[in-house]
Amino acid sequence: DAPRRLISAEKRPEDDAALRPQVLADFTGQEAARKNLKVFIESAKARGEALDHVLFVGPPGLGKTTLAQIVARELGVSFRSTSGPVIAKAGDLAAQLTNLEPRDVLFIDEIHRLNPAVEEILYPAMEDFQLDLIIGAGPAARSVKIDLARFTLIGATTRAGLLTTPLRDRFGIPVRLNFYTAEELQSIVARGARVIGIGLSDEGANEIARRSRGTPRIAGRLLRRVRDFAVVEGAAEVTRALADAALRLLDVDSIGLDQMDRRYLDAIALKFGGGPVGVETIAAALSEPRDAIEDIIEPYLIQQGFVQRTPRGRLLTPHAFRHLGLAEPRREGR
Ligand code: ADP
Repeated sequence: DAPRRLISAEKRPEDDAALRPQVLADFTGQEAARKNLKVFIESAKARGEALDHVLFVGPPGLGKTTLAQIVARELGVSFRSTSGPVIAKAGDLAAQLTNLEPRDVLFIDEIHRLNPAVEEILYPAMEDFQLDLIIGAGPAARSVKIDLARFTLIGATTRAGLLTTPLRDRFGIPVRLNFYTAEELQSIVARGARVIGIGLSDEGANEIARRSRGTPRIAGRLLRRVRDFAVVEGAAEVTRALADAALRLLDVDSIGLDQMDRRYLDAIALKFGGGPVGVETIAAALSEPRDAIEDIIEPYLIQQGFVQRTPRGRLLTPHAFRHLGLAEPRREGR
């Protein structure tokens, strides 16, 4: 099993739901997404119609679920939530769909992981608000159509490319979420500290923000771990020094990389001469699944300019060699 990473953006049960902003106005960052959603929500409300189907695309922990809940709340409708891998049979999804009231939001997390038979019944549901079900089997089988309430489907996925084209095409409002800036994360951390009731200086908040990999979920988790250190030390306030000491002990470096990131970077630098090297080869060298590398490790490293995706594979940048404290290999043509 992969070690549990403090800085993994994957959802965990202990992550604090109390930190979730409840209204669009409290949602920091993602300005373009926020502005667009505001317009579409107001328009749908003014027309008294269901909002078009929305697809949130972006790495884990950036606020897709939070935004989906906010959209439902701003629309004044019920929020139902499920996820791709949880819906085993077409009948499970049919049951969810027939329970929806007009304009309700159905949220499907990890929608790229729906099984094809389930996805099939989603097409007419999204397009014509109809269920096409086959009842019975063999010669006695017949097809029935059931009318559904006009609802809003909100899907979330880590990469748009994982969706089938027919599914992707049925979302009227695609919304891409990007990594947050350190300033945005700093204000998210400051708000989080107020919610959990701890003293945090601006510099302390900045130190946590800089190490949070552009990801609010990680910021919230680091904040809680730093809080534990403050409590044990009897510190009234989390200062930059306290945050720095705590995060060092937790093996999160000055820009939020942990041992797993360093293993990935070291492997390319030392085993493959800095690349280019194929992702399959890296996965084999690290004994990690390729998906985990592409979804969890690489997005932040690419965004930070440590790694480039080239047609011939992954290539470490001079920036990465500097961060690792390694000399860059001499190479022709560079
Ligand atoms: P995703 O669905 O993209 O994996 P979530 O919506 O579950 O991410 O968000 C992860 C955590 O980060 C939640 O606890 C949420 O409170 C927090 N969070 C996400 N976006 C924001 C934001 N813009 N402002 C404040 N907190 C946020």
